Amino acid sequence: MTFELPKLPYALSDLEPHISEETLEYHYGKHHAWYVKKLNDAIVWTSHEWKDLEEIIKSSEGWVFNNAAQIWNHTFYWNCLSPNGGGKPSGRLMKCIERDFWDYDTFADAFSKASASNFGSGWTWLVQTPEGKLEIDSTSNAGCVLTTDNTPLMVIDVWEHAYYIDYRNARPAYIEAFWNLVNWDFVEGNMN
Ligand code: MN
Repeated sequence: MTFELPKLPYALSDLEPHISEETLEYHYGKHHAWYVKKLNDAIVWTSHEWKDLEEIIKSSEGWVFNNAAQIWNHTFYWNCLSPNGGGKPSGRLMKCIERDFWDYDTFADAFSKASASNFGSGWTWLVQTPEGKLEIDSTSNAGCVLTTDNTPLMVIDVWEHAYYIDYRNARPAYIEAFWNLVNWDFVEGNMN
């Protein structure tokens, strides 16, 4: 299978002023695209060649895993964002957040802290356990929740390439901006 860079669900400039067009030109147009190219190059004439992306992530390690998981993680991250995002969740998702984190502000604070303290490059996730509980999880480098029993609901990319153009080294400022873009309909739609 030859993988293609998935289309962004909005225009490159649509997330401004929180995430700039220049950031998306690099983050989507260069970084995400590069993982696609590298994976396609790596799987030629291997047992991964006829698998779909999730199958590759669950059955690989090292270079192949890193590029495959980075493709999936970025696509998931783009879908977690929307020019019409932000605000607070509602409905079933909000009920579960209040059940498992006390209230929305406590949840948002815990998620922001986990994202800010995820050391080095990585991803911080909101996940749903097989029992239905919501939890915050952080992975390093290309780490992907699909390799666990949990279901990914939401993710923030905390690699420096996600925020360095707009916020330089100030990851907390980027995390604050992230909350203005969260597509809560997408997040809730990922629940089991
Ligand atoms: Mn990234």
